[in-house]
Amino acid sequence: MSRRFLSIGECMVELSQAGDGLLRKGFAGDTFNTAWYARACLAADWSVDYFTALGDDAMSDEMLAFIDTSGIGTSLIRRIKGRTPGLYMINLKNGERSFSYWRDSSAARSLAADPDRLREAVESAAVIYFSGITLAILPHEDAETLLAEVRRAKAAGKLVVFDPNIRPRLWSSYDVMHTTISEGARSSVLVMPSFDDEAAHFGDDSIEATIHRYRALGAVDIVVKNGADGVTLNFAGEQTFVPAEKVKKVVDTTSAGDSFNGAFLARYLEAGDAPAAARFAAKVAARVVSEHGALVVREKLRLDGG
Ligand code: ADP
Repeated sequence: MSRRFLSIGECMVELSQAGDGLLRKGFAGDTFNTAWYARACLAADWSVDYFTALGDDAMSDEMLAFIDTSGIGTSLIRRIKGRTPGLYMINLKNGERSFSYWRDSSAARSLAADPDRLREAVESAAVIYFSGITLAILPHEDAETLLAEVRRAKAAGKLVVFDPNIRPRLWSSYDVMHTTISEGARSSVLVMPSFDDEAAHFGDDSIEATIHRYRALGAVDIVVKNGADGVTLNFAGEQTFVPAEKVKKVVDTTSAGDSFNGAFLARYLEAGDAPAAARFAAKVAARVVSEHGALVVREKLRLDGG
């Protein structure tokens, strides 16, 4: 089987405060962040590809170049005439962060509008990663196309991985959100939810309840992340708890879950040992929350120990 990891979703232009009213430009987005950490942690004989759609403007060119220089494959990315990437801004007020988004008409919303290209991409990969945000930004029909494609991949024995990443603001209603996220989990082998989100939006009163719900839908393996309180793994029914690493000072929790997922998958794919992969991912995520920004460079992750 090919050693290709395919992540599907939206990468956005990120504007963050750089002091004196200046803004710093970056690129980030949940599924892209996970691809970034998977790339940082996987051996060189694995390829990591990003599947999205971009426009034909200068900002799309720049994002494509950024993805490429990150070591992530861009050959599957669709370019759509006249469209632009989505954008978000991180606001800081009295130390509290809030986010503004301009993504309603982003090119990424059309990522599944070309079913042949989507199929070709999914067929070329051994591992397919997507999230509740990927599903939320798609028109209903295209979300169905993507779900059918990942179901097909699961049936073909590929590792389909789903992070529900629940963002109510992106969905037209709670009903659509519940149904589509449940369908995402049903179509996957491994589901990687964050307990906070699941408790708030599915009403789970315990980690057990989250595991039980996703297992009942048809997920085989489940990793429930719970911030500083560690993760609970349930692999084919066998349950293990892995604590989080102690962090001296939490600086920025952006992409904690995304980095955990990328690092976990990288190790899990290499050795198949889920608890060991979770211990490694907890170390990586601890370094990510100790630094500013969604994407922490490889040197600062200190992947080789220490
Ligand atoms: P999400 O960002 O998706 O909400 P979590 O908050 O559960 O995900 O964080 C994901 C992982 O990041 C955790 O499993 C843990 O390893 C690490 N992490 C997050 N917050 C902390 C923290 N305060 N201290 C140590 N590790 C943390």
